[in-house]
Amino acid sequence: MEHCILKVALDTPLDRFFDYRWPTSAVANADGEFVTPALPQIGQLVLLPFGRQQLMGLIIAISDHTDVPAAKLKDALELRSQLPSLSEEWIALCRFAADYYQRPLGEVALPALPRNLRVGKATTLERNLKKLAKLAPALDANPNPEPALNPSQKAAVEAIAGVTGFAPCLLYGVTGSGKTEVYLQSAARILAQTEQAQVLILVPEINLTPQLENNIRKRFSGIQIATLHSGMAEGERLQHWLAAHLGQARIILGTRLAILASLPHLKMIVIDEEHDPSYKQQEGLRYSARDLAVWRAHQLAIPVVLGSATPSLESWQHAKVGRYRKLELRDRAVKDAVLPVVRLINQEHEKPKDGLTTPLINAIWRRLEKGEQSLLFLNRRGYSPVIACDACGWISDCARCTAHLVMHKLENKLRCHHCGYEQRIPRHCPTCGNIDLQPLGRGTQRLEEGLKLIFPEARVFRIDADSTRLKGSAAAAFDTVHKGEVDILIGTQMVAKGHDFKNLTLVAALNPDSALFSQDYRASERLFAQLMQVAGRAGRAAQKEGGNISEVLIQTRYPDHPLYHALMAHDYDRFANDLLDERQHACMPPFMYQALLRAEAKELQSALDFLHQAANCCAHVGITIHEPIPMSMTRVANVDRAQLLVESVSRPALQAFLKEWIATLRGLKSRLKWGVEIDPVDI
Ligand code: ADP
Ligand code: ZN
Ligand code: ZN
Repeated sequence: MEHCILKVALDTPLDRFFDYRWPTSAVANADGEFVTPALPQIGQLVLLPFGRQQLMGLIIAISDHTDVPAAKLKDALELRSQLPSLSEEWIALCRFAADYYQRPLGEVALPALPRNLRVGKATTLERNLKKLAKLAPALDANPNPEPALNPSQKAAVEAIAGVTGFAPCLLYGVTGSGKTEVYLQSAARILAQTEQAQVLILVPEINLTPQLENNIRKRFSGIQIATLHSGMAEGERLQHWLAAHLGQARIILGTRLAILASLPHLKMIVIDEEHDPSYKQQEGLRYSARDLAVWRAHQLAIPVVLGSATPSLESWQHAKVGRYRKLELRDRAVKDAVLPVVRLINQEHEKPKDGLTTPLINAIWRRLEKGEQSLLFLNRRGYSPVIACDACGWISDCARCTAHLVMHKLENKLRCHHCGYEQRIPRHCPTCGNIDLQPLGRGTQRLEEGLKLIFPEARVFRIDADSTRLKGSAAAAFDTVHKGEVDILIGTQMVAKGHDFKNLTLVAALNPDSALFSQDYRASERLFAQLMQVAGRAGRAAQKEGGNISEVLIQTRYPDHPLYHALMAHDYDRFANDLLDERQHACMPPFMYQALLRAEAKELQSALDFLHQAANCCAHVGITIHEPIPMSMTRVANVDRAQLLVESVSRPALQAFLKEWIATLRGLKSRLKWGVEIDPVDI
């Protein structure tokens, strides 16, 4: 019998391919009949014996040669030839991600596929393919027409349509300037160009912005749309992934993981809110979906549009030096809608009561009188971030983490937001028995309680991760606000994103100061983006006759801080340029390339010892290796964590060093858990 050798990538930490045998001449089946086996192809999935288990692998090469001795060579079990092969382009994308993020190809490529494809039976796949074949794209009886674009939108759409080859566009548009419309009309042109063209639209979080999905469906009647995000059930995920892979779905709307979808006819990529931190995967393969999107567009020589009101400094710098083309939308798109007026309330002069200063309380009254909505932004859920005993100084710390237990009064729980530990709220101090335990600080639940006392007639509503834990409840909650059944909305960052609240004229940030002095140098960039975004929820419709002007109030102890002044002037340009100057002087990203080595151990010292050993195990010309330090939140769930920062002004130099370094570290065979993150965002 004749065979070929399949070189296969598997989801294992071993950085190599695995060889398996596959017959190329007729073989006898269980009934003794001779059948010709399917011809394997690169990019096909294949079921393999691996140790005592069976694993799905991806065929990377087919050869007639192997170095594995015949006695050890195993036969592949089943070829998934029902599924069209994954393309060279897709494998190249995975290969790039694997190289860049220093992982084996198999650890990138296989987890990027739906789980049901990797562990499911051939019959599951066949059933799904049959179901898809019957599926026709939904026809909407009265789809939404395209609105006429304003001149800056038109210029942006023309510029994007005029792109030939690789030329990323940074769509820099204030909140409410109609960036979505630019995406949709650009997408429409691409879809009209060729019958098969696919467009990928990435958003930070789908569940928080169901409006966008609806708008797309209403606009593109007769075109199949697939969605891909982590909240989907596995069965559903497989269906949508297959629709994209077969080219049936032509618009793919997804979160970061969608960048690794197989899209055989991809012709354009849109990244909405490109600055958003959720594009960075924070575990496993710590990739940046934005960066991969730009690479993918480059490889395919197709347009990529990065949209934001507060672009990341990385993209801003690219635009500055002309690598990206900057397209600007300076005004709000809705007629007569203007950007809100931003004012600061000096908390040194106006002492807050229940977290609210008098000018803010008055501003809320004015909204209630006119039947308009207010949004209070407080990025801290729970009742209070900690409870304490005045008598002996005890405070509610988590026994397993470097963190406080947060008081959740409604559920009568103290809860750790990092390891999930929870207990009942103690009736008396565990140390001295004092029964008078005090909540310190204010979370959204406590704010809600206070507001209901101050405004007993108002309909107060809270949206945060606790109030929307059940599936579908976030969408329902936002619906309640849109329907006007809410007067005062309290929310965490969940409410900052993308929502088009038509009747909201007041936004207040209650406690933004803490981020001003964070150790993390990206904190101010993030704070600005967040405040700009939440501020952008106000005044999205034209001011009503006799109604309030739209306002953003910021309660602060630092009214002179330049960040707030840039915010008042809606001047992201200046803020970003100043920050970039600072970063350049201090040799920080985007003028420096970084990687972090993280180690975890039961004892902090073991983690630090490992990092010290790592710091000294390789030659490093042109690379700076910093002192190992404990992470700012050192302990999580009884594990101590430390990190080591390495950096270089040259990306290739850093990449070359990392490759050798990681191989050496693997050779140390340390038993503790470690990992390398490229372009870390939390340092
Ligand atoms: P952004 O994403 O830039 O914050 P949106 O895309 O949400 O802004 O648009 C804000 C509002 O402007 C939406 O209600 C949208 O329907 C409206 N809009 C966008 N473009 C136009 C246009 N050309 N004419 C009228 N209204 C528009
Ligand atoms: Zn006590
Ligand atoms: Zn904990």
